[in-house]
Amino acid sequence: MFSSFKRVVLKVGSALIAPSGSGCSPHKLFPIAQFIIDCRQRGIEVVLVSSGSIAAGKRHFPKIDSADVSITMKKAMAAAGQAEMVSTWDKLFDFATCQILLTHGDLRDPERYASVSSTIDETLKHGILPIVNENDTITTDKLKVGDNDNLAAMVSAAVGADALILCTDVDGLYSANPKDNPDAKHIPEVRSITDSLRNLDMRTTNSVGTGGMATKVQAAEKAIANGIATYIIHGEQADSFPALLRNENPGTIFFPSKSPINDKDHWLRYTTRAQGELVVNKAGEKTVIDGLLSLSSEQLLEVNGDFNTGDTVVIKSEDGKSLAKAITNCSSCLMSYLTEQEDSSSLNHLDSVYESDQMTLLKEV
Ligand code: GLU
Repeated sequence: MFSSFKRVVLKVGSALIAPSGSGCSPHKLFPIAQFIIDCRQRGIEVVLVSSGSIAAGKRHFPKIDSADVSITMKKAMAAAGQAEMVSTWDKLFDFATCQILLTHGDLRDPERYASVSSTIDETLKHGILPIVNENDTITTDKLKVGDNDNLAAMVSAAVGADALILCTDVDGLYSANPKDNPDAKHIPEVRSITDSLRNLDMRTTNSVGTGGMATKVQAAEKAIANGIATYIIHGEQADSFPALLRNENPGTIFFPSKSPINDKDHWLRYTTRAQGELVVNKAGEKTVIDGLLSLSSEQLLEVNGDFNTGDTVVIKSEDGKSLAKAITNCSSCLMSYLTEQEDSSSLNHLDSVYESDQMTLLKEV
């Protein structure tokens, strides 16, 4: 299977590039770099998503106790360490690399999302290895993805990857944390992500990364829904990488959905984040479920949150069920005003409606 892929996204965490949590070291990266070279030689394009800027930048703040690191300081560490992280990779290759820094604000905006995808395409066409990281320096709570596993899944969808490979410090998913539970069972294959999988004990397995297994399962869920095979592999076991090229499974494989949702629906569902919420009555619920793209003011019970035209909203029933995600063509302010008017005929329509689970409606965004 692996050897038939045309484009893969490889995510490497801080524990591999900055194992001591202070400065980057190429020490653990040689097998990974060789894998990237091997993939490229076989015609498989690689997009690298690498963490490590914060861990690399930490040593420039020597007087700070880890417990006292503020968010602003972390951003400053990311700013101080990002160049070192990229140059550590760059030195391992005799082809060009480039740096791509993203925030959630870039990915949830349709134009910027398209621009991310076309820019990465162009770099790959020219044989350049894109190295993606979250732009931690400028993120805010509202704008951040927060971990590079989910970022890598969003990037995989944006670049139309066939596979997402998440490197970690265990050889895949276990029924419990194998580091403190000797009875933990290895799970080599996952065909669909169930609640029992989501609820596994998935605490962070190392001290320098952000997400642990939980964010890896979230990332896999996003990716497989878009038809992207996802692997969790041990990034420090040198044979993990040649095994992939031999079409073996060195860790856990999450099989891609047999009926992947289309790119636009996927973006709306898995990449955007709702900035507001519309609560509809029974008639509104029917409108949404029937796939009609406009809600009238009589159908709207509540407009919650602060959103602008073009933002994503979630549409909920009176009893709190999420029915759809939609791009609104009306701000929360205007929508609240219009719903309060006696004459409701002028209420703006929603541009598009997206299902929660059972519908797949989406207009151009
Ligand atoms: N973007 C962070 C960094 O470069 C890492 C986030 C993560 O570990 O998932 O340090």
